[in-house]
Amino acid sequence: MDTIAKPTMTKEILERYGLKADKRFGQNFLIDPNTVEKIAMNACDEELVTIEIGPGIGSLTQYLARYSKKVYAHEIDKRLIEVLEDIFKDEEKIKIVPGDFLKCDLSLMPYHDAKINVCSNLPYYITTPVLFKIFESDLDIKKITVMVQKEVAERFVAKPDTEDYSALSVIVQYLFDTKLLMNVSRKVFDPMPKVDSAVVTFTPKIKDEDIVEKDFFDLIKASFKQRRKTLKNNLTSAYKGKDIDKMIAEAGLKATVRAQELTIEDFKHLYGGIYET
Ligand code: SAM
Repeated sequence: MDTIAKPTMTKEILERYGLKADKRFGQNFLIDPNTVEKIAMNACDEELVTIEIGPGIGSLTQYLARYSKKVYAHEIDKRLIEVLEDIFKDEEKIKIVPGDFLKCDLSLMPYHDAKINVCSNLPYYITTPVLFKIFESDLDIKKITVMVQKEVAERFVAKPDTEDYSALSVIVQYLFDTKLLMNVSRKVFDPMPKVDSAVVTFTPKIKDEDIVEKDFFDLIKASFKQRRKTLKNNLTSAYKGKDIDKMIAEAGLKATVRAQELTIEDFKHLYGGIYET
């Protein structure tokens, strides 16, 4: 089959099936073969299953299948499901999973017990819930490769002492090694979105057995609660009755420090003080 991720082919498919991109579902189709190839090559492993969220008209799906053992593609839009079933009818490696990814029960999916990679050009209006559904799942994930708005990507990979560094950055970077794979111009989509995008990869880190994630994440969120306040002030409001001054000193931090100056290791030391004493 000809490459779908091209301006001419995308136009032809949309015309052939009498379709227009539906904004409600965040539809912006990739029309650059180099971009999809680079994403797919990075995201997939020929021995592993790839899960895609939102295949659209199959631009990325086609390349994911080239580099994976099998692809399960979750699509919500009934019109596109019909198109995909037709376009990929002879592609044994591609299975379309109809319905809302956010509502699907992952424990019932045929890939539930497989080692998987996740890849998606995410619909921007549900970037965070989709990612957290994946992060919090019990799937055996090897790598997640997603296209998101550039500003969101910058938060996922932000380092301490930068404006983008937030509770989200710390939580995500505690769970995963995050990397910015590439920036993607708005010009490689049809229709063209108002913002530029970037592709980020998340590779799971080995879990720290001494840390209760819920407590650790509560501590991180409390630390960043009011960005302009010092860590001490934020934690004093959240952990009444604890000697916060002592815990900050024992974590080797200065009394006036702000959350945005702390590394993940600093947060782990603080966690030790607050939850293990
Ligand atoms: N992968 C295609 C591409 O790169 O050209 C399309 C990407 S488009 C940005 C997002 C896709 O996600 C659309 O096909 C849209 O219909 C689908 N989508 C939106 N919300 C969804 C949901 N809750 N579950 C599954 N798919 C969804």
